[in-house]
Amino acid sequence: MSNIVIFKNMPNDNEFIEWIDENPKGFVLNIHRRQDPSNIHESHPRIHFANCSQLNKKPGSSTTGDYFKVCSNSIEELEQWSWVKYQKGLNPCRICKEKGLPVEQLTGIQNFQVTSALSLKSDIYKLEKRLASEANSNKRTEIETLIKARLGQGRFRQKLLELYPNCPLTGLDVQSLLIASHIKPWSKCNNEERLDPSNGLMLAPHIDALFDSGLITFDTDGTIKIHPTIDPENQKRLGIAPDMKLKIRPESEKYFEYHRNHVFQKEE
Ligand SMILES: [Zn+2]
Repeated sequence: MSNIVIFKNMPNDNEFIEWIDENPKGFVLNIHRRQDPSNIHESHPRIHFANCSQLNKKPGSSTTGDYFKVCSNSIEELEQWSWVKYQKGLNPCRICKEKGLPVEQLTGIQNFQVTSALSLKSDIYKLEKRLASEANSNKRTEIETLIKARLGQGRFRQKLLELYPNCPLTGLDVQSLLIASHIKPWSKCNNEERLDPSNGLMLAPHIDALFDSGLITFDTDGTIKIHPTIDPENQKRLGIAPDMKLKIRPESEKYFEYHRNHVFQKEE
């Protein structure tokens, strides 16, 4: 499931250089092998665009030198990896940041969202394993905080499943596929709003993608509003139609209002 590739102690660096060539839009964590990012006082892993000039791509020194590389096409995946491995978020390279590295996706402490039931379970499992072997009390506290956050997300998901046993638009009721979607986006929420079941919906993955990216929203009476980018032909392909309606619970309306005004893409 994971698309993360780690290049460490290669006999040569060709595999890393090949990965870069094949994934020009990918991202690379450059981690010093003598600095241990799991030490609270050491720096956060640095993230670069795959094509960053700061990354050494000479055969014989990229991964066999002082640094090893963790690569993926997904920033979220790398950030999650860093959290599970080091209980730390990522630090963007200055040059890559100027070139548009989407740092707003690097959301910092505990701020990525675990949406699927599977990734949530494996996350908690890894953290608990780590906790069992950790003696340092500061680190234990950090790990316990992360576990609590995951459990909170698990309860959020569970409550949402009770409210929405299936996707209200498509009817999909395969629980492992349903995504616990926030109405007001996670990144804009305070901690209370993040775990408020009124701020959530269970959605089929493609509906979640539409809702999350602001290509659909819902009027006060619950009628779907579809962005013109999604023409009737594509509406059919996605299984949505302009006459679809959602039952908006009164306590959820303030979140839907936010979505309508700030997430739904403005029509040109
Ligand atoms: Zn860079």
